[in-house]
Amino acid sequence: MIDYQQYLSKTAIELEPSGIRKFFDLAASMEGVISLGVGEPDFITPWNIREHAIDALQDGFTSYTANAGLLELRQEISRYLTRRFHVDYKPENQVIVTVGASQSLDLAFRAILNPGDEVLIVEPAFVSYTALVTMAGGVPIQIATKAENGFKVTPEQIEEAITERTKAILLCSPNNPTGTALSKGELTEIARVVEKHDLLVVSDEIYAELTYDQDFTSFASIPGMYERTILINGFSKGFAMTGWRLGFLAAPKEMISLMVKIYQYTTMCAPHMLQRGALEALRNSSDHVEKMRQNYWRRRNFTVQSLNKIGLNCHTPGGAFYVFPSIQRTGLTSEAFAQELLEQEKVAVVPGSAFGSSGEGYIRCSYATSIEQLQEAMTRIGRFIDNFNN
Ligand code: PMP
Repeated sequence: MIDYQQYLSKTAIELEPSGIRKFFDLAASMEGVISLGVGEPDFITPWNIREHAIDALQDGFTSYTANAGLLELRQEISRYLTRRFHVDYKPENQVIVTVGASQSLDLAFRAILNPGDEVLIVEPAFVSYTALVTMAGGVPIQIATKAENGFKVTPEQIEEAITERTKAILLCSPNNPTGTALSKGELTEIARVVEKHDLLVVSDEIYAELTYDQDFTSFASIPGMYERTILINGFSKGFAMTGWRLGFLAAPKEMISLMVKIYQYTTMCAPHMLQRGALEALRNSSDHVEKMRQNYWRRRNFTVQSLNKIGLNCHTPGGAFYVFPSIQRTGLTSEAFAQELLEQEKVAVVPGSAFGSSGEGYIRCSYATSIEQLQEAMTRIGRFIDNFNN
């Protein structure tokens, strides 16, 4: 018998398993489950985008593209970033098309981190951040935000977490899992700390198209921050294209050249025919995107209202498609809550603890599902909570 442990990577072994997967697997094994667990749009990619990818395949676009992606697509991404977010990047040497925003994050960390460099992560946070920083040789340093502040990080909290080893801060607005969106003023305050301490910012803007109460501000558009920001975005959320695995990043050219070097050895390029489909997403789909956004907005309002009525208090998140209510009145841990809710009422949610220890006491509910399903889910959650009211 081979003892595989001796051959395996300690870094990989020591990574925490994702707290989301477990509930998906359990929910998938049961019948009649309403899932508020998934972090992806319930819409199918708009037809015109799909049709372009089909045409591309039919026309024989099956080869590699340039490592950084089709120049035509990078040009379109560059125009999109200017048009939507008022940031200017050169398609030739400041933009890379990646395999999802996930790979943009991976490239960013690999390109900037040396062993022991610290990256500040605002929690509750997307599950991949800590693992990606660790795999790139960095040290993730968590900053815990609080519900009382709407899960917004304060400049003081950032100052307190900074050490001589701090290389970068990772920001995600609108946020997964809290839905919190930071205003231009709040980002400007963070920018002051970034400048003072000479840091970089990895800005995960994957939910930029899904903001509801105020305009989205790209961190790179804050004065002085363009030079310090690695802007990460993609097609998954706003365009309902999760399965296409297409994202992009934009940054100063000195960083991009390093990232392209890493990319050419690890991946080569994103799928060619899908990159051609993505051209259509940026050229002719803003109406579809807006319709989906309005739809999420209505569901957000319904979900927030219903949960507060049930007694699971939550703030009104400014973006993404998640609400993050407190379950503290039940006295259960978030994991026990999710488990019991699934077993008793067949509603799947994600325990807040999956997003870092500051998520304990909360659950993440995704409202990227039909209003009928949401209504039924709220009835079931209400019934579940009634058990705790006596
Ligand atoms: N960042 C955040 C905050 C996310 O929520 C997700 C997807 N859940 C990603 C990045 C990854 O996106 P992609 O599908 O484009 O890899």
